[in-house]
Amino acid sequence: MSVPFTTGVHRLAPETFAYVQGSRATGYANAGLVCSGDEALLVDTFYTLGQTRQMLSAIAEAVPTTDICWVVNTHHDGDHWWGNQLVADAMIVSSTAAARKMRHAGPETVAPFLSADTDPRLRAYVEPFDFSGITPTYPTITFGGELELTVGKRTVRLIEVGPAHTDGDVIIHVPDERVVYAGDILMFGSHGVVHSGPIDNCIRACESILELDAETVVPGHGPVGGKQEVVRARDYLERVKAHATAAHQQGKSPLEAAREFDLSEFADLDNAERLILNIGAVYRELNGDGTPGMSPLLHQMVELKESLEATVTA
Ligand SMILES: [Zn+2]
Repeated sequence: MSVPFTTGVHRLAPETFAYVQGSRATGYANAGLVCSGDEALLVDTFYTLGQTRQMLSAIAEAVPTTDICWVVNTHHDGDHWWGNQLVADAMIVSSTAAARKMRHAGPETVAPFLSADTDPRLRAYVEPFDFSGITPTYPTITFGGELELTVGKRTVRLIEVGPAHTDGDVIIHVPDERVVYAGDILMFGSHGVVHSGPIDNCIRACESILELDAETVVPGHGPVGGKQEVVRARDYLERVKAHATAAHQQGKSPLEAAREFDLSEFADLDNAERLILNIGAVYRELNGDGTPGMSPLLHQMVELKESLEATVTA
């Protein structure tokens, strides 16, 4: 089944939907809706109240009889939960690890990026968004491992696969409709991001998704896909791991390693500057550094972006 990459509600199976924001740029995530009778479970809210309102009104129009009783936040990045206050009547669920991170991941965390003395190339990632009015609204139910929810007559499985993209990533499996929502474990059409890692957990999460034998896979970002796209995302991670490990052994810096990565096989993927984050994650592991030191990598990311763009236009 091919689902258009256009903003709106798309039916994936009789009672299972994706809400897609038709952009691969950072901050435009996908959401999901699993219905049964008049009950529904929403997968993720969005970065801004405006984006979340637009989604909720599209859902109300497309599936008017449905009442959102459950919300699952796939992880703690703001583009997957900062709209929670608009669905605060529902039971909000996340992994315990994600909920813990959310306490320090509210909209105040974008303030440093918006300040006048921030590198304008970094500021450009958050500037398009209006974060006003957000009151962090946390999950009311948390779990570790796996949790089964009943939505109407339908069983929905929540499976924790983090730490991988972030500390507490959760994927959502709808067995009878053969749909998986992967959160940011997958970003089809783009380079994915390994924030927490280890990268092996991201690779393993791809394998777990493949084992679920779903027909349709909704990534956290990018177009809806299937097994083929999951295999490609896994292969990408394996290539990054092998390349970064060899470059580390040769004493190269993460930026050098990123510049030397052969992009030809992945030339169609957007956001190639994210390579530096993924190579950085492998380096952290090899160096035995536990905590992600994001900010130096973010500066190198915008440098890499600039040099990649220069290569393309040259
Ligand atoms: Zn995201």
